[in-house]
Amino acid sequence: MVSPLRLLIFGRQGSGKGTQSSRLAAHYGIPHISTGDMLRAAVASGSDLGLQVQSIMSDGGLVSDELMEGVVRDRLGEDDAAAGFLLDGYPRTPGQAAYLEGLLAPAGVTLALNLDVDNDVVVDRITRRRVCESCGSTYALGEPAADSGTCTKCGGSVVQREDDTEVAVRKRLSLYEDQTAPLLAFFEEKGRLVTVDGVGDPDDIAVSLIAAIDAGR
Ligand SMILES: [Zn+2]
Repeated sequence: MVSPLRLLIFGRQGSGKGTQSSRLAAHYGIPHISTGDMLRAAVASGSDLGLQVQSIMSDGGLVSDELMEGVVRDRLGEDDAAAGFLLDGYPRTPGQAAYLEGLLAPAGVTLALNLDVDNDVVVDRITRRRVCESCGSTYALGEPAADSGTCTKCGGSVVQREDDTEVAVRKRLSLYEDQTAPLLAFFEEKGRLVTVDGVGDPDDIAVSLIAAIDAGR
């Protein structure tokens, strides 16, 4: 009996975390569980949970630990997660990490994956991004639509979002670091942190991640 593969993934915006998460989930046949996606889907569906989340967010509040614990406990208890999962977006605090370890006791989390990307690389990637205001297509500087400011798909205006300016990106990166450093330390102390360089060809990064997981599980 192989023990369940319970993976967490950490990576700042622009680290390629979404791409690698999909690949790992497919490779190991486990669900990619993104708590952000779950909360957005709940809000969109108008479920009880969604209504709670919406009212918290419209008040500018943070979703409480208790509420997130319920969401995570229910989702990880579903059949498709029995053989393992890749959890993305949770935990966000050491308290949540301790809750998760308790929930998964005695084995706990198998490995916490950290996709490490140099800040300057992330800033460069994000600040080059341009978005069509009409159809939402994304481009990068160097592509005709981004350089000309006209969407090649719909003719709409292609602009840089306020969130994508260097000042905004650096601010988010520093918040991310403040929030994530204690979590990485939590799993490192347990000898269950795997840090992989997230710069380079996505195929090569996936190979490195899989090698590290197979060695560490
Ligand atoms: Zn467009």
